[in-house]
Amino acid sequence: MTKTINLSDRFHLQGEYPCPVCRHGKITRMSLMEAFACDFCQHIFTGNFDKQLLKMADSQLPLTWYWSGKNWKGIQREGTDIGWGYIIIGLAFVALPTGIISLGTYLVPPLPDSPLSWLPLFWAILTFIAHLSCLILLVIEYYQLPIMLYMRALRRRLFQ
Ligand SMILES: [Zn+2]
Repeated sequence: MTKTINLSDRFHLQGEYPCPVCRHGKITRMSLMEAFACDFCQHIFTGNFDKQLLKMADSQLPLTWYWSGKNWKGIQREGTDIGWGYIIIGLAFVALPTGIISLGTYLVPPLPDSPLSWLPLFWAILTFIAHLSCLILLVIEYYQLPIMLYMRALRRRLFQ
């Protein structure tokens, strides 16, 4: 007797699976392509059937899931830990422009009785806040991406 593999438990090209991003839609094979698409959030995925892996194809982030036979298990993202390089770049992104503006103010101080003497300091603080909020948004986007996608997909569905 030959051993049969129950195809429904395995991740294969002809199957239909829940979407790991929105957890709402179904992903099925796109016609004439070796790719999958979700009918709800419209994300596109590629599969690795030997390793039972699904990889998001339309994102710059390396989001990958493993098919356990019943559901998708998120795989630790490659490079999930933010390396020191990124931390230094992030800090430089905030500190450098602020530093340059502060240095300019220090080297060429405004006249103390000029009506705009508050401007350089205000400008330096504004630069700091603007760059810091950019950095915070990037971090949120990086870590909460699936949640953000879900919200976006939900919003699309509600307003369509
Ligand atoms: Zn989806």
